[in-house]
Amino acid sequence: MPHTILLAEPRGFCAGVVRAINVLDQVLDESTEPVYAFHEIVHNRYVVDDFRSRGAIFVEDVSEVPSGARIVFSAHGIAPSVVQAARDRGLRIIDATCPLVTKVHLETKKAAKDGYDVLLVGHEGHDEVEGTKGEALDRTRVVDTPHDVQSLVEGNRPIFVVTQTTLSVDDTAATIDAIRERYPNAEVRNDICYATTNRQAAVKVIAERADLVIVIGSQNSSNSVRLREVAAATGTPAYRVDGIEEIDPAWYEGVGIVGLTAGASVPDTLLQPIIDDLRTRGVTRVEPVIVAEETIEFRMPEELDYSKANA
Ligand code: SF4
Repeated sequence: MPHTILLAEPRGFCAGVVRAINVLDQVLDESTEPVYAFHEIVHNRYVVDDFRSRGAIFVEDVSEVPSGARIVFSAHGIAPSVVQAARDRGLRIIDATCPLVTKVHLETKKAAKDGYDVLLVGHEGHDEVEGTKGEALDRTRVVDTPHDVQSLVEGNRPIFVVTQTTLSVDDTAATIDAIRERYPNAEVRNDICYATTNRQAAVKVIAERADLVIVIGSQNSSNSVRLREVAAATGTPAYRVDGIEEIDPAWYEGVGIVGLTAGASVPDTLLQPIIDDLRTRGVTRVEPVIVAEETIEFRMPEELDYSKANA
C-alpha cells in the first residue's frame, strides 16, 4: 500500500506559462469581440479547454481568423512568416511568446545573418521548433539525436548551435557532444530553460527514492514527456497522465512511495485529486522535495502592460 508521496519542487507552471495564461486571460476579460489564439496557448488540455469554454477560439492557421480580429500568439513562439501573414490580414497581434523562446529566435536570426549554418537541437514538428526554424529557414537544420548529427550533409559555412528550451538535459548533452566532435569549432548555445532544468533535476531526485513516479502533463507537452523519460531513466516505473482519470490503480500495487510532479504547463490544482485519492489508499505522509527555488517573473507584453502607460 502506498504510504508516502514525494512532491517534486519545483513542478508545474513556469514563468513563461504564467505570463501566456495571464495574457489570454486579460485579453478575454477586456474583449467584447471574439478572441483568437494561434495554436494552443500552452500545451495543456485542461488549460486550453478552460479558455475555450470562456470563448477563446483556437486556430491552426491565421487564414481562419477574420481580418481585423485580435489574435494571441502562444508561449511557444511564432515564425516570422506567420507574423507577416497575420499583419497582411490586418489582425491585431498580442504576442505571448515566452521571452526565453524569443531569445533563441534572436540567436538564430543573428547567427544566420553573421554567415553561420544553424543546427537547431530539438524535435521536428514541435511548435517551438517550427517557430525558431522560421527565423532562418534556408540556413537551419533540426537535429534530435547524435545519429542525426552523423547524417548531416557537409556544408561550407561555420556552425552555430541553438536548442529547443524544453529538451532533456542529459540527451541534449549527448547530442551536443556529437556536434562538437564533428564540428570542433561550432559555436554552441544551450538554451534549455531554467524551468525545464529545475523540473528534471527535481524529478530525478524523487525518482531515485520512489517506487513509482507519476508525471502530470499532456502528450503534446514536450517538457512533461521529458520528465517521464528522466524519471524512467533512473529505473523507477514512471507514467505521464493528463489527470487522475488516466491513472490505473493497479500501478499502486506493491508500491510504498509515490513520486509526483507536473510539467511546466500544468496547473497545480490537477495534483490535489491524486493526493486525496492516495490518502484514501493509505498515504499518511506528503513530503515536499525541494531541489531549487524559482523567483523568475516576466512582464506582460507592452500592449497589455498598463503599469508602463501610467508610469
Ligand atoms: Fe519559457 Fe521555459 Fe516555460 Fe517554455 S518551459 S514557457 S521556455 S520558462
